[in-house]
Amino acid sequence: MKALITGGAGFIGSHLAERLLARGDDVCVIDDLSTGKLENVTHLRDNPRFQLAVETILNETVMDRLVSECDVIYHLAAAVGVELIVKSPVETIERNVLGTHTVLRLAARYLRRVLIASTSEVYGKSESVPFREEDDRVLGPTTKSRWSYSCSKAIDEFLALAYHKEKGVETIIMRLFNTVGPRQTGRYGMVIPRLVKQALDGRPMTVYGDGQQVRCFTYVDDVVTAAIKLMETPKAVGEVFNIGNGSGISIMDLAGKIKQLTGSKSEMVLVPYEKAYEQGFEDMRIRVPDLSKAKKMIGYEPKIELEEILQRVITHFRTHREAE
Ligand code: UDP
Repeated sequence: MKALITGGAGFIGSHLAERLLARGDDVCVIDDLSTGKLENVTHLRDNPRFQLAVETILNETVMDRLVSECDVIYHLAAAVGVELIVKSPVETIERNVLGTHTVLRLAARYLRRVLIASTSEVYGKSESVPFREEDDRVLGPTTKSRWSYSCSKAIDEFLALAYHKEKGVETIIMRLFNTVGPRQTGRYGMVIPRLVKQALDGRPMTVYGDGQQVRCFTYVDDVVTAAIKLMETPKAVGEVFNIGNGSGISIMDLAGKIKQLTGSKSEMVLVPYEKAYEQGFEDMRIRVPDLSKAKKMIGYEPKIELEEILQRVITHFRTHREAE
């Protein structure tokens, strides 16, 4: 089996590449290194079954060849991180929509199965938790750029479902909730690497808003297991699945836990959203997945809980101080 992973030098993609290689698959990664990093895959480069193309997925000539040579496609390349998305909305929309369009058109040409990484952002600011795949989406106005990310990923989902319905492409959609683990960078906004780094450096730990917003954090290995299982489940084709962890924590409590586990003397500071992002920024108060559909389809059950996740991330940053 040969897998093409778009965005394979990114945080989730590199863990997926590692797992597939370990079980004997061939892996080809395409990544433009916009947010992905060569260091994420250097340890894989000596493996003769690993191939890396440093290129954008919008390069159709290169993508045509890579898609024709693979058996399945894990499409993970996308604009990531709320901070990046607020700063660069043009790039976000173009990268997500045009990139996925390219992948799907080529998947249709060569009839390849595609797993698309989507996001819990598509639920928007709905507060009717836990979110089920068929729930309504609740979004803010187009003048607030955060919602462009939600919409661009929703278009990706629409496109994937349309290519399945109209052109017979085998598409599967996984909606990822906050995924964390070693190699995730805090550079584009993600809260856990940020707070851990701040705690280890003895800098103030920045908690945005009132800190009472709730998130559920999933360990990257659980996401990788789910992605591979979904890809290998024919009944999953044409369907959307939440992949996450069912237990939530407020960001204030999260910061407290990180402070305690690192033994840090950092102070915790509340930063207003408009200072952290932009004027009028809207955050989600609560975000919790209903996981029953994935559980029924692939027996999905996240294995690593928050405390263990934090320990692993802390160890990663302690041993890779230069990582940021
Ligand atoms: N957040 C925070 N401090 C930071 C970075 C993020 O309090 O330094 C908050 C952010 O406003 C959000 C939550 O932590 O409410 C999770 O943020 P992240 O960007 O990791 O993911 P999101 O859930 O926003 O996609």
